[in-house]
Amino acid sequence: MTSSLTARCVFLGAPGAGKGTQAKRVAEKVALAHISTGDMLRAEVKSGSELGAQARTFMDQGKLVPDQVIIDMVKERIRKPDAQAAWILDGFPRTLPQAEALDANLSGDNALTHVISFAVPEDVLMGRLTGRRTCSKCGAIWHIENKPTKQEGICDACGCELTQRSDDRPEAIGKRLEEYRSLTAPLLAYYGDRGVLREIDANRSPDVVFEELLNLMQ
Ligand code: ADP
Repeated sequence: MTSSLTARCVFLGAPGAGKGTQAKRVAEKVALAHISTGDMLRAEVKSGSELGAQARTFMDQGKLVPDQVIIDMVKERIRKPDAQAAWILDGFPRTLPQAEALDANLSGDNALTHVISFAVPEDVLMGRLTGRRTCSKCGAIWHIENKPTKQEGICDACGCELTQRSDDRPEAIGKRLEEYRSLTAPLLAYYGDRGVLREIDANRSPDVVFEELLNLMQ
């Protein structure tokens, strides 16, 4: 049913809202490109590139990376062959200038089809972020309370060591939520005015959110 979905989607939401987890699941079920700017930046950091070194100073403090850096990176990514028919942008746009640049880059026949806002109360976000652990090898995401591994600190999927993202420390989390409120939340009105925005209650189990998401994306 879903394998032929031609969605060009933006997932909007605060850090910890579950955009990345759900985007991964959708991309496993449906043939589309999952474009996560956070994952792309972390790959740059890991590779030791100049872009990665520049981005890291912002990311570790919980600040957004400058617009032009991100806009250039996404423009290049959505030109790639795997991102022609369908994609999910996870974590982009995050500011009004980024949203305007995206609009300018998409013409009539490849315009956005859905903008989905993941709604989660702020106290829940805090708990999700502080307890999140990521596998250093396969990228699987766990949580010390909500989704614990059988053996503490070891990934159930591949047996490798779990790490905590450097921006999941409480100091950086506060700044990320502040950046979300001041710079990203205004995008809800931006897309709301165009009639493409759909909200999903993401304070429910991942399976329930996933089912609703697939229906919304039809
Ligand atoms: P989260 O949504 O949980 O904060 P991400 O993995 O999407 O995590 O992003 C991690 C960090 O990468 C952000 O805090 C920010 O520094 C940087 N980043 C990712 N996407 C963008 C973007 N579109 N604009 C600016 N910075 C970004």
